[in-house]
Amino acid sequence: MSDNLNQLKARFNQTIRLSEAARLLSWDQQTYMPSAAAAGRAEQAATISQIAHELSVSDEMCRLLERCEADLRGQPDDSDDVRMLQVIRRQYDLNTKLPATLMAEVARHQAIAHACWQRARAANDFSALAPALEKMFDLARQGAEYLGYSDHIYDALIDIYEPGMKYADVAAMFSEIKPRLTRLVYAIAASKVSVDDSLLRGSFPVDQQKSLTQTLVGALGYDLARGRIDEAAHPFCSSSGREDVRITTRYNPELLPQGLYASIHEAGHAMYEQGSPAKFEGTALAGAASTGFHESQSRLWENLVGRSRAFCQFIYPFLVERFPGSFASGGEELLYRAVNRVTPTMIRVEADEVTYNLHVLIRFELESEMLAGTLNVSDLPDAWNSRMESYLGITPSNDAEGVLQDVHWSGGLIGYFPTYTIGNLLSGQLWHAIGNALPNLPEQISRGEFAPLLEWLRVNVHQYGQKYRTAELIEMTTGEPLSAHYFVDYLTAKYSEIYRL
Ligand code: ZN
Repeated sequence: MSDNLNQLKARFNQTIRLSEAARLLSWDQQTYMPSAAAAGRAEQAATISQIAHELSVSDEMCRLLERCEADLRGQPDDSDDVRMLQVIRRQYDLNTKLPATLMAEVARHQAIAHACWQRARAANDFSALAPALEKMFDLARQGAEYLGYSDHIYDALIDIYEPGMKYADVAAMFSEIKPRLTRLVYAIAASKVSVDDSLLRGSFPVDQQKSLTQTLVGALGYDLARGRIDEAAHPFCSSSGREDVRITTRYNPELLPQGLYASIHEAGHAMYEQGSPAKFEGTALAGAASTGFHESQSRLWENLVGRSRAFCQFIYPFLVERFPGSFASGGEELLYRAVNRVTPTMIRVEADEVTYNLHVLIRFELESEMLAGTLNVSDLPDAWNSRMESYLGITPSNDAEGVLQDVHWSGGLIGYFPTYTIGNLLSGQLWHAIGNALPNLPEQISRGEFAPLLEWLRVNVHQYGQKYRTAELIEMTTGEPLSAHYFVDYLTAKYSEIYRL
């Protein structure tokens, strides 16, 4: 290996170690940090990120990168070193194309806009957020111009989360699923079958839920010797290297699915991080292919596994044992139906599998129109409400349960929402391939045997870390480009049976 490459790897490794430390500080902030430490923690985080940024855009980094690109010219495009160099180049370009003044202004405005969002949501008053939101979209537009794009301004922003993905790809994906999903939602609403989920509401002591979570995520394959579970207001997964991948969850003592499915979801993210190969540890190839691919793993475990009939059969005895007041023997089928109840809701994060992606679609449409300048921020609440009515058949009674519900836009996350749906579509396509490879999977799941499934994911997805992009990886894994129909077919078959459509 060239000396230049060794030096480049060592440099890049420093930025990785700094961001791992920053993530640990952030995990602490959201779990155990005393509230008085907030100001000091913000300083610590800012200092680390400044040092990491300076290292990543240094002249030395630039020189080494150029030398390595020259050294590796002519090497096979598929080699680890060539791919690693591409990831470092992409990171370098992202870090250097945006002027420091713009980045500082975004960081400052994020704090302001977040505070406005909190006030606006509490007061149910969109006008308290509108000016800050307008400015955030303006900053995003400026950023997109610096990053560059050829077709649509949205291309520059989605590319940050889904390398290589374009506005046209996302629009095509949604135009395929939109008519089928809305039809399914309306058919379910018109169904004579009503699904009762009352057994999921009651008294579920948090201690019992905690012990259930430990047992369950351990059974799935989340290695707790290299991870841990804590509580936080917003569940998340935080990785500081493959040997330290932590999750947080949130328990509701009156509603069982909240903690249960948040835990399975985050464990899905964590197993992906733990499956990043040891040979990539501390390099640019460690981690996940993209934000959407990460979400495909969490949604696969949460929904395709966790809301399957086989999983309900597996988990049921645990529920009877821990919550005898709510569950009596023989209720597996009731549980299966209850965890799959479909009902349009105002709130995205509470949405079921069928309606969830329509929530994402609304956000994608609105943010791309605002970026392109065809929708004004002042018209956003009306546009939001009319699309909720047309896609989901419900209208928010106020902006707090409508346009003010998400933290993303005020936090500067513009172009991010489609990754949720990309994750779902990937999960459906992977699930189809898994079904062919593991014909006995339902029986295995019903017996609590998750190792064959995890091994399939390890071999076909996790072992590649960041080496391949989404489009390449899904084609390698399933033999086809990303396609929406597997996911929609899965939903249609599953819910046609439950709701006798
Ligand atoms: Zn997730």
